[in-house]
Amino acid sequence: MQTIRTTCPYCGVGCGVLAAPDGRGGLGIAGDPAHPANKGRLCVKGSALGETVGHAGRLLAPRIHGREAGWDEALDLVARRFTETIAEHGPDSVGFYVSGQLLTEDYYVANKLMKGFIGSGNIDTNSRLCMASAVAGHRRAFGSDTVPGLYEDLELADTVVLVGSNLAWCHPVLYQRLAAAREARGTRVVVVDPRRTASCDIADLHLPLAPGSDAALFNLLLAEIGRRSEICADNLEGIEDAMTAARETLPSAIGLAHSQIRQFLDLWLHSDKVVTVWSQGVNQSDSGTDKVNAILNCHLASGRIGRPGMGPLSVTGQPNAMGGREVGGLANMLACHLEIENPAHREAVRGFWNAPRMAERPGLKAVDMFRAVEDGRIKALWIICTNPAVTMPEADRVARAIAGCDFVVVSDIMARTDTTRLAHVLLPATGWGEKDGTVTNSERRISRQRRTLAPAGQARDDWRILAEVGRRMGWPEAFGWTSPAQVFAEHAALSGIAGGLGSDFDISAHAGIAQAEYDALEPFLWPQSARRQGGRFFGDGRFHTPSGRGRLVAVTPRAPRPAGADRPFRLNTGRVRDHWHTMTRTGLSPRLSRHLAEPFLELHPGDAARLGLAPASLAEVVSPHGRAVLRVLVSDRVAPGHPFAPMHWTGETAPSGRVDALVPGTVDPVSGQPALKSAAVAIRPFAAR
Ligand code: SF4
Repeated sequence: MQTIRTTCPYCGVGCGVLAAPDGRGGLGIAGDPAHPANKGRLCVKGSALGETVGHAGRLLAPRIHGREAGWDEALDLVARRFTETIAEHGPDSVGFYVSGQLLTEDYYVANKLMKGFIGSGNIDTNSRLCMASAVAGHRRAFGSDTVPGLYEDLELADTVVLVGSNLAWCHPVLYQRLAAAREARGTRVVVVDPRRTASCDIADLHLPLAPGSDAALFNLLLAEIGRRSEICADNLEGIEDAMTAARETLPSAIGLAHSQIRQFLDLWLHSDKVVTVWSQGVNQSDSGTDKVNAILNCHLASGRIGRPGMGPLSVTGQPNAMGGREVGGLANMLACHLEIENPAHREAVRGFWNAPRMAERPGLKAVDMFRAVEDGRIKALWIICTNPAVTMPEADRVARAIAGCDFVVVSDIMARTDTTRLAHVLLPATGWGEKDGTVTNSERRISRQRRTLAPAGQARDDWRILAEVGRRMGWPEAFGWTSPAQVFAEHAALSGIAGGLGSDFDISAHAGIAQAEYDALEPFLWPQSARRQGGRFFGDGRFHTPSGRGRLVAVTPRAPRPAGADRPFRLNTGRVRDHWHTMTRTGLSPRLSRHLAEPFLELHPGDAARLGLAPASLAEVVSPHGRAVLRVLVSDRVAPGHPFAPMHWTGETAPSGRVDALVPGTVDPVSGQPALKSAAVAIRPFAAR
């Protein structure tokens, strides 16, 4: 049996996988011992990949208004309707909503088509829901969206702090690496999370702070760094204002005992090497960017950044959220970390692409994009590799907006999702195992996903579908690639120009890469250029801000919102161990459904008793935006008043389990990331009507 080295399609750890086709459409799966991210490990989701590659439920041919159609007819229709809409209403009347599960090559082509040829910034991604606040925080502090450290820092640190990150369930192989380091070296682990999550199993200290008070905790730490005169002021700016805001922060806002806060401050400051890992619990907030900067402030001020075993580490939920950042998949960015609002950057990209119509301003971010669909400003929408009718906040409203749009194209691997059923044109895409390209994990490591199986039915690669539409819209040369290697080579060449303009994302060592080299490409850290290869950033005190200094940001923590009488519970949303996103793949494995088989509401025993809800009974959860019916799981892992519910179930899998339908469309004002973590809800026993 031939074994093919590829990469897991789930979380941002980006584990290497050995896939062995069995000749009957199945795959044997093992961890790749040679991949630096996982060194042979896999979590339960990754190890079950072979159980998820069948064709059950797959979209096997294009469809127009529900009838099967040929590719030429479908692509001609998409190109014609987009061209007509743009001619009549302008470039901003169309939009692409894409995904952190696309490969970099797919993402690059989508971004080039929208920003360089259609001439609008209206391409945004479900990664907006995942890590946009981390991007914005990095850019404020460093002047660039550069992740400073590496995974191995978890193994070199004295203390690792997990903030708003249930690493044990959401990034399990990184958790395994941390647990092994703790065993071997005595690494101390702190978990900062209102819930007692599975990650607390290895915690020396769990801080069950009040939801939303992370910034206040890190402000206290910053004030303590200042009080102990441990500020490394060299090459920093903004210290005075940040310290003033930090000193004004009241410990009472955090909801922890004084002794717990003291223990945290002492542990952090007595550790030479500290890594702070954060994820959705920080990012998915209406003050997510401030929370990120409160963390970055402490690492910058104390000099614990960019050196072995120390630094802030944002872990992404999706396999290629980082790749999306690299190609400009966010509405406010250009390719290769260049800035859409910078005329020199725009001109450089325009010249490289020979683009006829460059976008001149940022496009609409995810929530605003669907608002524009709702009020008719966007009249043609192409949704690629994602299911916004389930995963957007106010998901019912988003589904209604898509249903009312003049022209909706959906590219997906599955025939029936909450979003595909709203499409006028459905385009079958290749899925994991059938695709060929690259992804970038949370430590900036680019790895190959390789084709191991034949495409299902008539499915085509996303980059190829997008390029076909670009050619049909009148740009045959710009979209004339015949392989993903050619797309990668072009992206790498553009990154060299970006590197010349100061971008850290420079992989120009791979510009012009030949097919054979691409096929053999080993996982590598960016940058890879004549100037620099991989490594950590900012340990040398050089940043990308105009002054060249690292920037501390003054953060005034927002008080956690008090519960209202009519909706007295603050629902915390998140993920479970064995499912991923809307379960299109993991839902195919009975083994993965054994862990937690249905949507549930984890409720404190006191709340359950007060509401008259017995274990395993059904609860109705209501907000102004929607309603869900969930199985009650009584547990003291959650605090009174702060129940938890997972976000995976859809209208197809459990019609009343769509938790994001409850969440308001509030966003962080800097990053545009929705506050998906939290919804004010009422809970009552479910009575069948
Ligand atoms: Fe896949 Fe993430 Fe598990 Fe690794 S940790 S096997 S990337 S789901």
